[in-house]
Amino acid sequence: MKLIVQVKLLPTPVQAAALEATLHACNEAATWVSEVAFVKGVKRNFALREHTYAEVKQRWGLGAQAAQHVIKKTCDAYRTLAANLKAGNLGRPWSKRYRRATGKPVAFRPEGAQPYDDRMLSWQIPERTISIWTLSGRVKGVAFTASPEQLARLALYRKGESDLLYRDGMWFLQATCEIPETEPNTDPDGFLGIDLGIVNIATTSDGQIMAGRALNRGRLRERTLRTKLQRKNTPSARRRLKKRRRKEARRTKDINHKIAKHVVAEAERTGRGIALEDLTGIRERVRLRKPQRATLHGWAFAQLGAFIAYKARQAGVPVVYVDPAYTSRTCAECGHIDRANRVSQAWFVCRNCGFVDHADRNGSRNIRARAEALWRRGAQSTAPEPPPTARGGTGRKRSTTPSGARSASPSL
Ligand SMILES: [Zn+2]
Repeated sequence: MKLIVQVKLLPTPVQAAALEATLHACNEAATWVSEVAFVKGVKRNFALREHTYAEVKQRWGLGAQAAQHVIKKTCDAYRTLAANLKAGNLGRPWSKRYRRATGKPVAFRPEGAQPYDDRMLSWQIPERTISIWTLSGRVKGVAFTASPEQLARLALYRKGESDLLYRDGMWFLQATCEIPETEPNTDPDGFLGIDLGIVNIATTSDGQIMAGRALNRGRLRERTLRTKLQRKNTPSARRRLKKRRRKEARRTKDINHKIAKHVVAEAERTGRGIALEDLTGIRERVRLRKPQRATLHGWAFAQLGAFIAYKARQAGVPVVYVDPAYTSRTCAECGHIDRANRVSQAWFVCRNCGFVDHADRNGSRNIRARAEALWRRGAQSTAPEPPPTARGGTGRKRSTTPSGARSASPSL
């Protein structure tokens, strides 16, 4: 499976200036190529190269590889646009958005990402440096930061192109890695149920709570501050707001990565599968008091689900999605369903059998039980050919990658 590893570059001021000039030139050239493509109606790589290659090299001083990437990037942009138009993402052909998108050439931001191949970029992983082509020649020894895990991934699996990008005053490289998948475990020793919630982001059926009270306190503080900035609505307040939003998104992503990593490692270690709630339509389904609703929707549960799914796939851990209806009101011991079973946010007390448990843990145990029932049914339906395969099955979904598209792949 493809995975993007993002590393932050630490260029010296001189190196940064060379990178900036190069990125700007590439995007200016791409915008010009795009105009040619638009005017001449030529949007295929080889045909477009005939019209633009020589001039891109000469006018912007790009090397052969860089010029080819600029042209290819332009073609890719038109292909993406065509796919979006076809999928109806920009409305109907007569809509304003559709006409605006098709009425002029695609333009590139001065700081848009630029692809680099192995001839233009080389990695010295033990030294944590790269050597990269720029307009002012090859720049050597540009330092980068990466976690030990990222370094290992880069050393073992980096393959193909990397994107150079500039964001929030920082330089990054996004490297494509081709990670081998582990043979899927077709005979899991039970399931680890995960309950997703508002007060506790994730609770496992083993009773472990992840990202609870302390995290929510921080998030509440953040939201109060953002509301204040929103009210102010001055240019500087808007700028600060944007920055804080991004910071918050990075923190959320980081926490989701940690939860997913932990959950998958635990399931792998114990030979179990993972049972998750099917989250499609969670917004419609969940009816909560207003402040809680804001909290819930503020959390990227879909992202967490996607992280768990791809990490599980990598580790060969099966994932089963279950219908989460009434998991919080059902007794995990006797199956009695009653709204009154949930006596408080934190506690579950069964009206029928008197079973007492932490409410989220009770929920995750129900999720686990549902997944195990689904898995058994699936295994039975494929029973004729022992051993039961991981393919097919009734009502059981296998883990899937978030998306095939490279840009949509989760990055680390
Ligand atoms: Zn009960």
